[in-house]
Amino acid sequence: MNEYDSQRISTLAEKVGYYKTDNINNIDCYVLNTCHIREKATEKVYHDIGRLKKNYRNKKKPIVLVTGCVAQAENNEMLKREPYIDAVVGPQSYHNVPKILSKLHKKKEKLNFTNFDVVEKFDELNKVKNLDSKVSSFITIQEGCDKFCNFCVVPYTRGPEYSRSPEEVIKEAKDLILNGTKEITLLGQNVNAYFYNEKEKVFKFSNLIMSLDKLKELKRIRYTTSHPIDMTDDLIDCYKNAKKLMPFLHLPVQSGSNKILKSMNRKHSREEYLSIIHKLIKVKPDIKFSSDFIVGYPGETEKDFYDTISLVKEVNFINSFSFVYNPRPGTPASNLERVDRETQMRRLTELQNLLVDIQIKANKNEIGKLTEVLIENRMKKQTKYFGRNENLTPVVINNVREKDIGKIIGVKIQDCNRNTLFGTKVNMEREAAA
Ligand code: SAM
Ligand code: SF4
Repeated sequence: MNEYDSQRISTLAEKVGYYKTDNINNIDCYVLNTCHIREKATEKVYHDIGRLKKNYRNKKKPIVLVTGCVAQAENNEMLKREPYIDAVVGPQSYHNVPKILSKLHKKKEKLNFTNFDVVEKFDELNKVKNLDSKVSSFITIQEGCDKFCNFCVVPYTRGPEYSRSPEEVIKEAKDLILNGTKEITLLGQNVNAYFYNEKEKVFKFSNLIMSLDKLKELKRIRYTTSHPIDMTDDLIDCYKNAKKLMPFLHLPVQSGSNKILKSMNRKHSREEYLSIIHKLIKVKPDIKFSSDFIVGYPGETEKDFYDTISLVKEVNFINSFSFVYNPRPGTPASNLERVDRETQMRRLTELQNLLVDIQIKANKNEIGKLTEVLIENRMKKQTKYFGRNENLTPVVINNVREKDIGKIIGVKIQDCNRNTLFGTKVNMEREAAA
């Protein structure tokens, strides 16, 4: 979502005469869009600004904006701790960026824009076309969270759940498609909690997927991140009915232990999670899964940890994110007794080794097979091209051309490493007949 927000911030800044540059040594404005999910990200902000300060010691100071969830959570504290920062702008206030830049251009002052007006934000954003022209683009359709997992800062930094109107979303999708987008990933902290209700007319996430599925030039639909309790049967049925919905789902479970899930306030059990997985496999046998895991959560015993390990083996996640529990100020879990660091790290290593083994095995299993790849771009300083197959696995192809960008082509996989498949374009019909 930060990638989507950064892209929108950059378009907004263009309204007042700024444009994006890769030349960090000659800038007028520096926007640092931040994440607050783990502590490390906050420290990185100060580290990055320290580097910038050094770089501009003998030059004109650029305007420095810190946007995103760190700005939301730490607002005035940040302005005090680092005077080099000119403004803090929360994730629901970044539509004000043109106004902020104009103000700072005229007069040096410290600005704090951390209101939670998500309706005003999207009203403003709707007036500015999403100019993204990538083959694969994002659209934020939902923001915020009402679930309050005991470890997580998102409900405090992004605010309550909010869904954009289907008309706005479809219009943004059509604009992107006109610009060349072939794949859209719908975004939200709880994307599948999407629910729009106006004048008694209800529009659910499954309705939105089915509407997007009808857009002619669109080839693929994805969404992230989903919460298990919102994986309703009508959404599961989309895997049968929506031709463009990809057979891959990132569905974070966090832990395989019911005791830990309860203590996290995840609102679902291991069995309920597995039942969703089985229902999805029933309607879409080739579907693959990925997840997020937190290890070393307060109270996690060896048995709880091995419940997570057994769940990983049962689902065979092809790709996942795993983290050591990181206490976040203001969240209920931060007051609980912690698992010692050594145990946390040992468990993280064991879990990650297992996840990597499964990923490598899944990739090796593709060798010799045909896979459908949406070609996204030519690789930097190479003649090879990059794309992703239906399961979101990166694929590097050696014999495609510029004109193949944006097309779905058949690729025969010849090799792989942990993250990537390597292959050659083939004529799918000829291969199938052979
Ligand atoms: N809404 C999504 C869900 O419930 O599955 C997750 C969104 S959260 C922004 C992304 C991931 O960060 C979570 O799934 C969790 O694994 C991780 N995370 C959040 N808070 C954390 C914490 N305090 N320590 C470690 N990992 C954390
Ligand atoms: Fe955070 Fe996701 Fe839980 Fe919401 S549902 S509190 S975003 S982990």
